Amino acid sequence: MRKIKFELHWQILIAMVLAVIFGITFPTKYRFTYDSFETFSKQAKQKGFTETQLLRLESLRDSEAKSETEFFNEVSYLLSNELPNKKKQTISEYARYNPALSYIAWMGIIFIRALKMIIVPLILSSIISGIANIGSGGKLGRLGFKTLLYYLTTSAFAIFAGIVFVNIFKPGVGANIGLSAHVEKISSIDRPFSETLINIVPENIFKAFQAQDMLAIIFFAILFGFFITRVNHKSKEFMTNFFNSTFEVMMKITMFVILFTPFGIFGLISKIIADIAGDTDKLTSLISSLGMYSLVVIIGLMFHSIITLPFMVKILGKSNPWKHFKAMRSALLTAFSTSSSAAALSLTMSSVQNNSGVSTKVSGFTLPLGATVNMDGTALYECVAVYFIAQAYGVEMTIGNQIIVAATALLASIGAAGIPMAGFVMISVILSAVGLEPEAVGVLLTVDRILDMFRTGVNVWSDSCGAVIVAKSEGETLKAIS
Ligand code: ASP
Repeated sequence: MRKIKFELHWQILIAMVLAVIFGITFPTKYRFTYDSFETFSKQAKQKGFTETQLLRLESLRDSEAKSETEFFNEVSYLLSNELPNKKKQTISEYARYNPALSYIAWMGIIFIRALKMIIVPLILSSIISGIANIGSGGKLGRLGFKTLLYYLTTSAFAIFAGIVFVNIFKPGVGANIGLSAHVEKISSIDRPFSETLINIVPENIFKAFQAQDMLAIIFFAILFGFFITRVNHKSKEFMTNFFNSTFEVMMKITMFVILFTPFGIFGLISKIIADIAGDTDKLTSLISSLGMYSLVVIIGLMFHSIITLPFMVKILGKSNPWKHFKAMRSALLTAFSTSSSAAALSLTMSSVQNNSGVSTKVSGFTLPLGATVNMDGTALYECVAVYFIAQAYGVEMTIGNQIIVAATALLASIGAAGIPMAGFVMISVILSAVGLEPEAVGVLLTVDRILDMFRTGVNVWSDSCGAVIVAKSEGETLKAIS
């Protein structure tokens, strides 16, 4: 009998549909059970609730509300005033009542934990092996310099485009994305910018690993990778091979975790839907804000790939961007459908060499490096995601925060591996760099797969444009695309 095999994106789609059905069938009710009120009242005093407030809230044990809004209407009526958001949050945490959900919510929790588990070793090995490979064989000369300059410039343009579009459309303002934490302001505002810069140098690298302090980890990884290229030949070869292999293993682990995405999505989305299922306004607002968010990411990516990159190919690469695009079609389609720059790499290399006519010397150096280091689409996407979440929390981004987001997005895109969802994993890195709660990423997971396809296409397109520009600057003729 033939086995029916579903592609991952179909599995994800099915998981999403099932999650919606589950959430709607088992909506969360808002009420205090005997036990939950007991636990709540133990915590309540510390959280600033008075004795009288507690006594009044206790009467809620007999009633049940269908939605959070309805529940809090009753709470405000009982307490005869509006509660501050923080207190509402505490009440809501204990008043959610959904026994069915407890059977499946763990899948989402474990999935997010597994993604967090891979962040540090993945970034560390990706950056160390990337840098060590550039430096080996004396490649970090003129070619390396030009390539890195191109990567940094285009990623900066992409980030800029992302920031502009997310500020024009403001998809996150007023978005109801099921955030439970309440953020008054972004915590990194509390510390001066100079301190953030100082903290890039870790006092203790193990503490940085533990705190998932990405700027510090990336800084250390760059230093480590660089100095691998400066030791004697035997050690250099050993260390480069070691980190290349570690990176390979980490990619395999990531791919393994990704296999469970449908279960993760099912657990996370069921909870989000169940919690707001009794409130149709919130449900429709969730769907429309996610739609708006995806649209902004796609518009930004389109702008970068249709305007910025072709313009650079035309001006700096003195070639015809349209002809180059046609030469790259199958590689771009592969990137789009696999959501993996690494999976598309061999096709990218053969298209750039055979169709666009770039030499093996340039393409062999720039493209493998670009597949892990140069991710314009990912950088843009990450900026939009973080702004979206900050907007949903209703917090202002100061200039200092904007700089941190841009710089971390750049570093995170460099640190992201060329595999599906690597960029998604990095969002929580940037969120914690600016001091926002990473809980919000759960809801973004719903649309990640589709956005991953677009951003991976842009990543590969940018790598290929880079190969053309560097080849031209090295005096190659590229007749096929001129
Ligand atoms: N999937 C992307 C790539 O392979 C990375 C990402 O998730 O943003 O280029």
